Amino acid sequence: VPRSLLVSEIFGPTFQGEGPSSGQLAAFLRLGGCNLNCTWCDTPYTWDRERFDLERETVRLTSDEVLKRLQAVSASLIVVTGGEPLLQQLVLEPVLEACLADGRSIEVETNGTIMPSDHLMQLVTRFNVSPKLGNSGVRGRHRLRQPVLRALVESGSAIFKFVVERASDLDEIAAVEGELDLRPIWVMPQAQTPEQVMTVMRDIAAPVLARGWNLTTRLHVLLWGAARGR
Ligand code: SF4
Repeated sequence: VPRSLLVSEIFGPTFQGEGPSSGQLAAFLRLGGCNLNCTWCDTPYTWDRERFDLERETVRLTSDEVLKRLQAVSASLIVVTGGEPLLQQLVLEPVLEACLADGRSIEVETNGTIMPSDHLMQLVTRFNVSPKLGNSGVRGRHRLRQPVLRALVESGSAIFKFVVERASDLDEIAAVEGELDLRPIWVMPQAQTPEQVMTVMRDIAAPVLARGWNLTTRLHVLLWGAARGR
C-alpha cells in the first residue's frame, strides 16, 4: 500500500459548487487519476496523459502533508474529489479520520464504479455519486457498476448526481433509477461556461420537476467559469 497520495490540487476556502451543499464554504482536496475517460470531463488534467503532462499536473504528498494543507484552510466542510478519489481510498482513510477528529464533515465525490470500504463508508458524511450516462462516451459496463451503486444506496449516505446535456438524457436516468432504486436523484447541467449552465438548466428544469427530482447548478462555473482552484 503506498503511503502517499497522488494529488492534483488542494484549495479553498471556496464554495462547494454542486449538489445538496452548494454554496457551503469548503476546503477541496482534488486527487489525481481516474478509471473512466468521459468525453466532457472538466478535470482531464488529473488523469489524461495524452493531453496533459501529469508529472507537472500532479504531486505525491504524504497523508500528513495533505492533512496539514487541509488544516490550513478554514472551512468546516472537506470535499474530496478528482479524478476518481476512491482509487486511493486506503491512503485517504487516515486523512479523513483526522479531519473528522477536527470536527469537520466530509463529502466524497465519486463516479460510483469503485466499492468504498466499510471504513470509508463510516468516515464519509456524504457520497456525491455521479454515475455516468451515455453522453459521457464511456461504455455501459464500465460506467454502471450495480453492486457498487446498490451498496451506496444502502449506506443511506449517498446522493446520485447525474450530468445531463439535454432533456432527452432524463429518460436514461429514469431507467437507472427504476432498476437500482437510486435516490435521492440530483440533476446537473453539463456546462463549462455560465451561459451553458443557464441554457441547459432552463431546458431541463420543468421535466426534472415533473419527475420529482432535484436540480443543482454549478455555482463555481457561474461565478468563475472554468478557472482552476476555485
Ligand atoms: S469520472 Fe469524473 S474525473 Fe473521471 S473522466 Fe469522468 S468526469 Fe472526469
